[in-house]
Amino acid sequence: MEGLGQTLVCTGCSLLCDDIEYEMEDGVVSKLYHICMHGYDKVMFAFSPQRLKAPLLSSNGSFREVSLDEAISKAAEVLKSSKKPLLYGWSCATNEAIDLGLEIAKKLGGIFDGTMWICHGYSIYLAKKLGMGLPKLEEVLNNADHVVFWGANPGDNHLRHMSRYAVFPRGERVPRGIETRMLSAVDIRMTSTVKVAMNKLLINPGGDAELLSALISELEGKPIQREEVAGIPLKTFLEFVDVLKQRPYTAIFYGLGLTHSGKGKENVELFYRLVQLLNQNGKSCIAMPMAGHYNMVGAVIKSLDAGGGPFAIDFGEGGEVARRGESALDALLSWEYDSALIVGSDPLSSLPSEIAQRIRSIPTIVLDYRLSLTAKHADIVIPVAVPGVESGGHATRMDEEVVTLSPIGGLVGRFPSDEEVLDKLLKQL
Ligand code: SF4
Repeated sequence: MEGLGQTLVCTGCSLLCDDIEYEMEDGVVSKLYHICMHGYDKVMFAFSPQRLKAPLLSSNGSFREVSLDEAISKAAEVLKSSKKPLLYGWSCATNEAIDLGLEIAKKLGGIFDGTMWICHGYSIYLAKKLGMGLPKLEEVLNNADHVVFWGANPGDNHLRHMSRYAVFPRGERVPRGIETRMLSAVDIRMTSTVKVAMNKLLINPGGDAELLSALISELEGKPIQREEVAGIPLKTFLEFVDVLKQRPYTAIFYGLGLTHSGKGKENVELFYRLVQLLNQNGKSCIAMPMAGHYNMVGAVIKSLDAGGGPFAIDFGEGGEVARRGESALDALLSWEYDSALIVGSDPLSSLPSEIAQRIRSIPTIVLDYRLSLTAKHADIVIPVAVPGVESGGHATRMDEEVVTLSPIGGLVGRFPSDEEVLDKLLKQL
């Protein structure tokens, strides 16, 4: 067997599990150990007949295969003749690729934006503004004796989160693991995570702000006078308050159910108020976003470093930040852009049709390893390596730990990484 005993870092989600062992046979991965099904699908896509293989140029409604050099030269021509390019994606690109994307955006006075706004861009921005520290997942494992999943469902989305870090393993101060760790879940439906939680807090849709306000009120010593809170019976609510007051270390992992349930900003602000209050009351309380895409956190941090905002940064002439979008949706709807470079993202399938139509109407370059809907409608498609499997680099885990990817040696070089393509592109601009 080739490759037995070697490990790779899975880029199936922002947990970036670094203990994935594999076996190879005839240049193909034949066995994977410790990986979950999402990660398995990602690794094996590198060998799928559907993976993109050749650079494509659109002409007269169909694609023709071209060389990598020709595709990059055409892409450079499109960007050079554009007044304001949109550079979109980034949550599924390495830190090195994101740096290059920002450099291209600055050089061309373009708009740098991506899926950070759909995910946890604003919540990470707010946490940093409030000076909220973020522990490493290993610290949570060792110390958290109360874990809350709020609007997050790792039972379906981050399949190894509970088993590897947050719930089941034994830790230094939680020597019996799940037997002594309390698990609470707040959600609007009976998800697979709520099912295994000891405290099940099933709230009305959009009830997060009401629940958060009531918790804050209780912790401030102002008991609420109601029969139920956001659809939760008072008894269940008060039991949860007691757990928060009694357990020394609460780790709250929050998902899009909190940040995108109608009153996203209000929810996130109340949520961090609750976290602050618990810490002021002598408890340790940490909050961590359950970022989805493998490098969403890296994309947010790099955007903040470059332009002070977590997404929607418009670079003016000379590379200065000309404006920042309050909402990337508004920016994508109303800002002017006349070409698009899309890296590892499929906006035509995920964005409102008005924005999708705009992107379809302008010259578009896509870097991906799949022929996504956006790639199918692009002018130039450049196949790139599956990150972590066919190419290396760095990515930032959900707890902001920077992880070095360790691709499978024999597969490196089959396809250029997103970083290599962007680097060649930048040199031609
Ligand atoms: S939990 Fe995420 S990083 Fe870990 S194996 Fe599954 S997809 Fe990969």
